Amino acid sequence: TITSQHLSDRVLEIQDAFEVSPTKLKQIVAHFVEELKKGLSAKGGNIPMIPVWVMDYPNGTETGDYLAIDLGGTNLRVVLVHLLGGQKFETEQEKYHLPKGMRTTRNRDELFEFIADCLEKFFYKLHPNGIEKGALLPLGFTFSYPASQTRIDTGVLQRWTKGFDIPNVEGEDVVPLLMDKINEKKLPIKVVALINDTAGALVASRYTDPTTEMGLIFGTGVNGAYYDRVGNIEKLKGKLLPDITDDSPMLINCEYGSFDNEHESLPRTKYDILIDEQSPRPGQQAFEKMTAGYYLGELIRLILVELYEEKQVFQKYSKDSEQIKLLYTPYLLDTSFLAEIEGDQDLENFPEVVRLFQEFLKIEPTLDERRLSRALSEIIGNRSARLSVCGIGAACTKMNIKKCHCAADGSVFHKYPKFPERAADSLADIFGWKEENIHPRNYPIQIVPSQDGSGVGAAVIAALAHARQ
Ligand code: ADP
Repeated sequence: TITSQHLSDRVLEIQDAFEVSPTKLKQIVAHFVEELKKGLSAKGGNIPMIPVWVMDYPNGTETGDYLAIDLGGTNLRVVLVHLLGGQKFETEQEKYHLPKGMRTTRNRDELFEFIADCLEKFFYKLHPNGIEKGALLPLGFTFSYPASQTRIDTGVLQRWTKGFDIPNVEGEDVVPLLMDKINEKKLPIKVVALINDTAGALVASRYTDPTTEMGLIFGTGVNGAYYDRVGNIEKLKGKLLPDITDDSPMLINCEYGSFDNEHESLPRTKYDILIDEQSPRPGQQAFEKMTAGYYLGELIRLILVELYEEKQVFQKYSKDSEQIKLLYTPYLLDTSFLAEIEGDQDLENFPEVVRLFQEFLKIEPTLDERRLSRALSEIIGNRSARLSVCGIGAACTKMNIKKCHCAADGSVFHKYPKFPERAADSLADIFGWKEENIHPRNYPIQIVPSQDGSGVGAAVIAALAHARQ
């Protein structure tokens, strides 16, 4: 039988394995800075550090109507953005759920046809009679997978991430793949910019807040973008027009989910190693696998499976019961499971935890099991927040940024209770603000909720691209 003492010893052990001390955070950040630099070198490194050809800072005066689409991990969002200048904008939008199986369809046409179908529905909803003959609506395509760009309106997918795996897209420019389907439908729409959600978060927020220096995503994946100087980007040497000076800004989509793929500094637990080994691409996206929304539910599931096998939990259910079969289903739990467990305010009975276990696993958890699950959620959620901000620590250290806003988007940031506080606390550990007795409200680097990056950001980037043409 389980005693709470027994359980809490076991929890302490797990907590230890997931602990990331301030010293460790500083080590990770130091390694991260080196990896960011390596990614910009001619030889390259683990972190792609993709120049996205946005070479201007928006200043809030950009105007015009732009379409934006965002292919996220779960939805396709279509937005019409009216940039009004004076740091103001209006949007109209629609969300379309990605059909089941779309992320791993064997036929790439299905994906691009789906996007064109959604665009068609949206376009005719807003413009039942079409638009002026000959006119073209410029579209910013938020495509948040690592894509190499030689211009703003191209993007060759390097490799799928976040659970997508569709053949014959890697190595291809996705803009013509989409344009072909748009043209087949004779829609008056032209893709003028391919953008990444992190770049969008940064640019959209900077449109209204000039102190914004980074765009961040804490969602299905983790990623960040910032402006570097052309002179620091060794891999672009010889590839730029002569009138571009070393001091020109260049927006970099880091794609730092692949930080530490060689496993030098991140403190991996055996559960992280399992997730990696059982993933379609072992050895890739090491940082993402320990921090991002796609994986956090799987982490708690793996721990619960281990505790079941150790006969510590759920002992009233036999191995061949429906409940335990569910428990053994990979990726059954998503991050909302953890977030909602942490959101339960009733620490006597944990009614939300009971509801969640019934809903997802058909399990009736004992009080000890509820407490244990709450503790595990805190352990996993806290580690995710602490590690995720190492990317901010690294980019700000590299660029010598002491004070700024970092614009964050993604469900994990917006919906996971305490994630923003934990992230701020971790930044304070990295930069030593606690020793200086700075109040959290006054931390010099603040993570703030981003403006609508994939809509407004795509529109502003499309407007900047348009202005340069
Ligand atoms: P994407 O990154 O795919 O564009 P989101 O930012 O919505 O989209 O992130 C989706 C991820 O957020 C999923 O991996 C999911 O596990 C997680 N998530 C969904 N709902 C919640 C929630 N209520 N709290 C915390 N995380 C959530």
